[in-house]
Amino acid sequence: MTIRVLPENIINQISAGEVVERPSSIVKELIENSIDSDASQIELFIRGGGLESIIVQDNGSGIPSKEISLAVLRHATSKLNDDNLNIISKLGFRGEALPSIASVSETTITSRTQNDKLAIMFKVSHGEIDYQKVASREVGTTVKVTSLFQKTPARLKFLKSIKAENSLCKEIFQKIALSHPNIAFKLIINGKHLLNYSSQFNLNNSLSNRVKEVLGEKLFADCIEINSSFENYSLRGFIGLPTINRPTSSMQYLYINNRPIRDKNIFYAIKAAYSETIPKGRHPIGVLYLDLPHDLVDVNVHPSKAEVRFQNFQKIRKLILTTLKSAIAKAGFKVSSELSLDIIKKFNVTNFSNQTSGIISPQNQNNKYQNFQWPELDEKLHNNDLMDNPPFAKVEENIRDREFESFPLGAAKGQLHSTYIISETKDGIILIDQHAAHERLVLEEMKENYKQGQLSSQILLIPEVINLKSIEKNILLENQEHLKKLGFEIESFGDESIIVREVPSLLGHANISNLIKDVAEELSILETQISIDDKINSIISKSACYGSVRSGRILNASEMNSLLRKMEITPNSGQCNHGRPTSIKLSLNDIEKLFGRR
Ligand code: ADP
Ligand code: MG
Repeated sequence: MTIRVLPENIINQISAGEVVERPSSIVKELIENSIDSDASQIELFIRGGGLESIIVQDNGSGIPSKEISLAVLRHATSKLNDDNLNIISKLGFRGEALPSIASVSETTITSRTQNDKLAIMFKVSHGEIDYQKVASREVGTTVKVTSLFQKTPARLKFLKSIKAENSLCKEIFQKIALSHPNIAFKLIINGKHLLNYSSQFNLNNSLSNRVKEVLGEKLFADCIEINSSFENYSLRGFIGLPTINRPTSSMQYLYINNRPIRDKNIFYAIKAAYSETIPKGRHPIGVLYLDLPHDLVDVNVHPSKAEVRFQNFQKIRKLILTTLKSAIAKAGFKVSSELSLDIIKKFNVTNFSNQTSGIISPQNQNNKYQNFQWPELDEKLHNNDLMDNPPFAKVEENIRDREFESFPLGAAKGQLHSTYIISETKDGIILIDQHAAHERLVLEEMKENYKQGQLSSQILLIPEVINLKSIEKNILLENQEHLKKLGFEIESFGDESIIVREVPSLLGHANISNLIKDVAEELSILETQISIDDKINSIISKSACYGSVRSGRILNASEMNSLLRKMEITPNSGQCNHGRPTSIKLSLNDIEKLFGRR
């Protein structure tokens, strides 16, 4: 066969493979065109997963009638004024979307500019111009896409169910809406008005209002606002508390200069920022806006414009890490309301309906509980028997209680199952997992003291000899210096043992032998190229686990209250070292709901 240049129509179909993967990619391109036209209102109508029809309607500048046929030509764009690809300020610039879409569907564009009295309607069917005629319309543009992939059926095979395609369209709609709070957006799927985001024009807090609209009020309440900058880079947004984590990263929204993008490196930077506060395999949520000079980022990497290349990623990584880490640390003990809501659901569903519905449900009137009576009060209970089984920790009514109640974590009222502290605040109650909380306190204190070079150690009265496998013994001796800096003084002792002479004072009466074995095991499974900081962190983390109060240890009132007061001033104290929450709050409102008072 001879070499020939392919017809325009085929070229468009090939390029459509990159731009128009599925209905949601069309939604993205059309909405971005509407944004570029300075619209203040954009409406998206979807039918049948986008395969029946996709309509995007805006009140933007419109397309001049003499230019409308150019809009569907390949590489025709109004957005690159001075042919400079280094300065791209509009969302579009490649002039590929409309020709690609029109080559795999029936596309009708109806548009009118302020200078035109009438609108122009222009239809292209699978790459061939159908007609151009006069129509009526307000200023703005409507693009209607039907018969998608009808002539390229191979594409249909790659699509998911109609329901899944609908939700992908919804996802991309929300993603774009998050970055343009000044534009009002409506989403109508199969005739149903699903989302209606108001225009946040004239409001100072337009961005937070839009994020609240998209995430929902409850999730938004569990987010921390961030705002920081470094040289020419600025980072704003809202990030979720570590306890609000998800099995995938799909709720991480990322924008570079207001363009929604995906970026592996940024994903890893976010992950690193949460590394000590979130369980393995879980992902934080957040909406992050990174702004930087256009010449420091290349958006022309892929036709879908969802990937970018940075000129200096290290600076961005540093900005993300420091901003997120300090925001998470500052949020400290902030208790998640989403978790509390989960608990309420459990109270309602699991505990009551499953286990006790037999007693209270009217359908069960004939069951064995029908004649249920309260048992006679046991006389013995009035005697001193009770005193033989005192509550685990009896908290004396204390004059300081009133004062403590106004603290965020309240006044400790007692200990349950020698594991949980229950405290009273002005507007609710809080349950605290004493081990999880104390573990974080010891960790942060060790880290801080280590940083300041002030980790004191205590000499063991009787040095502890620990038998180890030779590989573990070697790894400990290799790390002897790091261990020493942390307060552990160890030496080789015979063939298969080491002797521990000093341990960090913070560890109290921890089980040193088990701790050292654990540290040895941890160090031996860590990759060899891991940084010293990471090694130190892992030793500190293990030590904190051993050095903290165990579940099962009875605490008195002042111990409990001092734990709560310390949590309030310790960074990251809302999660233990493994990312589990340390406390859970039930507001009086929630409690009233539980009892049906609300
Ligand atoms: P690009 O957005 O990369 O320029 P497109 O193929 O998406 O390429 O669009 C081609 C041109 O059509 C745009 O440059 C713009 O001039 C015009 N256009 C498309 N959609 C709209 C719209 N909704 N409002 C105004 N102009 C539009
Ligand atoms: Mg475009």
